[in-house]
Amino acid sequence: MERGTMEGLQKSNFKTSICKYMKVFKFGGASVKDAEGVKNAATIIEKQLDGRLVVVVSAMGKTTNALEKLLQLHLSRDEAVFKQLEEIKSYHFGVCNDLFVNKNNPVFQELHNTFVEAEWQIEDEPIGTKGFEYDQLIGLGELLSTRIVSAYLDSKEIENVWVDARDVVRTDNRYQSAKVDWEETEKLIQERFSNLSERIAITQGFIGSSSENFTTTLGREGSDFSAAIFASSLNATEVVIWKDVEGMLNADPKHYQSTVKLENISYKEAVELAYYGASVIHPKTVKPLENKQIPLHVKSFKNPTASGSLINGDSSRDRDIPSYIHKENQILVSFSSRDFDFIDEHKLAEIFELFSNIGLSVNILQNSAISFTVVFDNDPSKIDELRKLVSQKYKVTYNEGATLITIRHFTDQIITDLLKDRLVLLEQRTRSTARFVLAEVL
Ligand code: ASP
Ligand code: MG
Repeated sequence: MERGTMEGLQKSNFKTSICKYMKVFKFGGASVKDAEGVKNAATIIEKQLDGRLVVVVSAMGKTTNALEKLLQLHLSRDEAVFKQLEEIKSYHFGVCNDLFVNKNNPVFQELHNTFVEAEWQIEDEPIGTKGFEYDQLIGLGELLSTRIVSAYLDSKEIENVWVDARDVVRTDNRYQSAKVDWEETEKLIQERFSNLSERIAITQGFIGSSSENFTTTLGREGSDFSAAIFASSLNATEVVIWKDVEGMLNADPKHYQSTVKLENISYKEAVELAYYGASVIHPKTVKPLENKQIPLHVKSFKNPTASGSLINGDSSRDRDIPSYIHKENQILVSFSSRDFDFIDEHKLAEIFELFSNIGLSVNILQNSAISFTVVFDNDPSKIDELRKLVSQKYKVTYNEGATLITIRHFTDQIITDLLKDRLVLLEQRTRSTARFVLAEVL
């Protein structure tokens, strides 16, 4: 048989197997924060393996925050940058020392090489915009964590291949929140994966690359979205996000004593919850999965055989349990026109363009004839910029330290209890959702 034909045959056979058995797992930072975590992830991978598996891993523990600090020091040319890098290094090498008895394991050299690139970057003057420098440096966390997970699986003789997400996730060059070029990404992922002989591929969440081959990032907490990108491009059969909670809960245990796990909700419900600020999954994760009807499980890495939560096309249980979502540290900003003019569509368009340019996203808004009220996450430098830009035309007033509470599938009783003795700055209700901006921290 001609070589070309045989390859063609293998490829197409493999492609059917991609469609049938491909699963995507995502492990977040908390799940791989130390040697125990990595071992546990490996056990989950080994035990749950049937068919093929793509494993998307984010940076270990709080590495991304540590890298953001590193970037700040680099941008301000602060000598402490080197000490900060040392800390990140010793954390990762520490985990490796715990995991690998054999100090000749190639992972030590791989980590070293990865760090050398970061060293070059921080030794030099920053060459690009802050966003550019950010993306070249911050993705380091995922490169390191995936090297470690992959090497650990190797050491347990679990055959796997390390895939550089930057070779296959193509984005534009809007650094720090790059937009995925879906067509190109799907093509690259399919090409790359149809040539793999290993059953398990380990790859990074959060990062991609631009057409000029610079690293880009998809926005904080973007690894869930990465899992969805891989799943969608490979027509995976399911995605599992492994978390430190038992699934999607109806409230944050930080604020509520008795929380309930949502067994099964629809994509639509999940998108709404994520949009309002439920932090369990990244809001962008759901759309690609919904579009291909790929089920998403959220499970606990501490209790891997428990059922977790299932997100799919079934909406029959969406209204069963009320969900509570808190957004803290909110600022309510009211604009009123100085000349008693109406705030019409034209003016609103102008104001919204400013928000978008400054990078402020609106959490809730309300308008009247001559005033307009909007609530943001409080980011003082952005709010300051906004105030400077609008103060000629509008009188601007604020309330800081507010909390935005959203309740999906509320009852009257829930609202009565919530609002007792509290000052409400703004409220909105639809049939399914009630939202309150309260003038205090709850
Ligand atoms: N490591 C990145 C972050 O902490 C991405 C992620 O964890 O999803 O934001
Ligand atoms: Mg994370």
